[in-house]
Amino acid sequence: MDNLKVEIEELSYEYPFSKKKVLNNISLSIFSGESVGIIGRNGSGKSTLCFVLTGLVPSFFGGRRTGRVLIDGVDVLQIPKENLVRKVGLVLQNPFSQISGAKTTVFEEVAFGLENLGIERDEMVERIEKVLKRFNLWEKRIQNPFELSGGQLQRLAIASTIALEPEILILDEPTSQLDPQGTTEVFEVLSELKKSGMTIIIVEHKFEKLVEYVDKLIFLHDGSLVGYGKPEEIFSMREIDIYNVGEPVYTTLCKNIDVKNAHGNYPVHFNEAAELLKGVFQKDDG
Ligand code: ADP
Repeated sequence: MDNLKVEIEELSYEYPFSKKKVLNNISLSIFSGESVGIIGRNGSGKSTLCFVLTGLVPSFFGGRRTGRVLIDGVDVLQIPKENLVRKVGLVLQNPFSQISGAKTTVFEEVAFGLENLGIERDEMVERIEKVLKRFNLWEKRIQNPFELSGGQLQRLAIASTIALEPEILILDEPTSQLDPQGTTEVFEVLSELKKSGMTIIIVEHKFEKLVEYVDKLIFLHDGSLVGYGKPEEIFSMREIDIYNVGEPVYTTLCKNIDVKNAHGNYPVHFNEAAELLKGVFQKDDG
């Protein structure tokens, strides 16, 4: 199928000096333009899967990878580094660690990655202006990155990655260091990127936010794929409770009084849960 973007086939991985498979025989596909979340308890392999998709595992970390990880039909390990940057962008948890620290203005910070790619001056300036305006940071262009708020700094980290024009954006807990305002700012940016057709893969523990935004969830436990499907299907799996993964509060509420939607799943969105609960209470009143 021509709009398949990522294909993972029987992927297993062990870090160096570790006999344990951190990823164990995982197979799944992601279509172009999909937004996919990765959930699972700490240590289930979420970050490692992100690193596999960028080729950092095993190129940077070493260790043993078996199976295949294809982007547009080519294994990430076969894609030359300069091309891979244009395929996959990675945004990490802590925006402070993502910011180069070498540049004194927001503008120069975005330029840093582009210079490394050898982009010509005119195109570089054009891209920086576009991306800073898009992420509402243009007014801050002459400020020092470290003067920004957490939300602004993470938006800058995402903007710097997007300036490289990757086709797939991977974010590993991008809001974990942010307050509610910063979290909302990051999700607004992600919604906009989703609308533009970008393929997005995100690890995120704020499930109420995550389900508003993703099409599907990858559910990992102990390196194995437990489920892959719509958020309401995944959060209705028994393994969510068994492995103590957590879930959106609206799902917990409906689970407690066993209220399911027409598909036989527990709702994950506020509106749907509210509607279903209203129905239950009205019936009780009658
Ligand atoms: P998650 O992101 O779900 O918390 P990780 O992918 O970070 O999970 O880790 C999965 C497993 O791999 C854990 O058991 C962790 O201890 C182990 N691990 C992570 N990084 C390394 C490393 N560099 N070397 C050896 N083991 C590691």
